[in-house]
Amino acid sequence: MQRDAHVVSHYHDVIERLRAASEQYDTLESTSYAPPELIAVSKTHPADTIRPLLEAGHRAFGENRVQEAAEKWPALREDFPHIELHLIGPLQTNKAKDAVALFDVIHTVDREKLARILHKEMEKQHRHLPCLIQVNIGEEEQKAGVAPNALRDFYALCIKDIGLKITGLMCIPPADENPAPYFALMQELKEQCCHLTPETRNLKLSMGMSGDFELAAAMGADYVRVGSAIFGTRQ
Ligand SMILES: *Cc1c(COP(=O)(O)O)cnc(C)c1O
Repeated sequence: MQRDAHVVSHYHDVIERLRAASEQYDTLESTSYAPPELIAVSKTHPADTIRPLLEAGHRAFGENRVQEAAEKWPALREDFPHIELHLIGPLQTNKAKDAVALFDVIHTVDREKLARILHKEMEKQHRHLPCLIQVNIGEEEQKAGVAPNALRDFYALCIKDIGLKITGLMCIPPADENPAPYFALMQELKEQCCHLTPETRNLKLSMGMSGDFELAAAMGADYVRVGSAIFGTRQ
């Protein structure tokens, strides 16, 4: 009981901090701007820890492993309507079928082979999920994602050639560095992609985690992915 109460109160803190931070962005932009959608990252946490948030009305969750999501979410979906499950971890092509069946949004499209297989699975399952392209914004060797200078071509390939529904861009900036320049670069890349196809003017940005979601919100994020600030530190 104690722990559940904490999760819900941390959640309300995060919501409040998000609202305050995104007001800053609102004053800089002429268009009206809604606070980013909060994705509660529940990876490693059991269903019993997640339930209180569902009971509090939250519906958007992030998981980074297909297998773990398959074990937790089908039962939770039976108990709570309108759950929106986001895949935020790397996806192997042999898990694409399960991922398409389980998730509602995929944030980690990062290579042609995966894009093609995802599209094929979506056709088969008649589930045309919104997808985001993961950008390796810090050009780090150990990180997944498309290099910034290859993004435009990859985006064009995905939407024109493959026919994937790309709705945004996702990044994880280098750890232990100021993320602000990386968030700014994501805005630039988004502009570049939007110029490519006038019909897709509103690509979303998925950026910001527990350590930097307020900054991300103040810099125009559309999704923030927050785990430990809500659920506590992971094992
Ligand atoms: C784990 C994870 C998060 C959440 O990280 P916290 O620092 O716990 O908020 C966000 N995005 C991705 C891609 C993750 O793997």
